[in-house]
Amino acid sequence: MTTLHKIELTCPICFNTFDSQAVLSTNTFGGKATDFHERASGTQPLPYLIHTCPSCGYTGNEHEFGDGADPSPTIKDHILVFGELAPKLPAGPLAGSDKYEFAATIADWQGREPRRIAELLLRAAWCCVDEDDVEAERYFRRKAAWAFEEGLASYDGVDSGERAVLTYLVGELWRRAGDVKTARAWFDRVPGEVTDTHAQQWLVDAAKQQRDHPREWFG
Ligand SMILES: [Zn+2]
Repeated sequence: MTTLHKIELTCPICFNTFDSQAVLSTNTFGGKATDFHERASGTQPLPYLIHTCPSCGYTGNEHEFGDGADPSPTIKDHILVFGELAPKLPAGPLAGSDKYEFAATIADWQGREPRRIAELLLRAAWCCVDEDDVEAERYFRRKAAWAFEEGLASYDGVDSGERAVLTYLVGELWRRAGDVKTARAWFDRVPGEVTDTHAQQWLVDAAKQQRDHPREWFG
């Protein structure tokens, strides 16, 4: 079981104090999807790993709301001076995908590497699976794929040992976004990105499998 508990946070941007739900414990008994989405049995923990200030939209993990949190002036300008997130806050409860989209926007303002932004967009897509929002899921999968591609295209944007796994992932993101042709092109690049033939053989096999006879789950 995933268990949640209530925490109280103070926003380091607007100093609003609010309650949020955080993960006390979780599990990975729900299997692993072929886009590396690890599932818990019971409640999925992802939406509760980050928190959003309901007043200004600032979003981060518990640490980023902690005593030492000191968001850069750039972030403060975007959120407080220009008020760019607050108008996007939904009237009802915030979905996990909303929170990760905000986190990705803030990471972009911070000038974080494309692959880090890509990971947040991927998490937004994973949340959409549980939100039963196929259109938004595909939207975030495309955005994540583009951001991973940007990381792979930039000089030292991705460690050489990680290039094969991220190339596979871009293929899988396009496959799940419904673009089979682009997916195939990325799966076909995986063997050329392998740096350790023995340790990464599973990736070559997985890319071939997802290209020819795709599966939704590993194992
Ligand atoms: Zn705030």
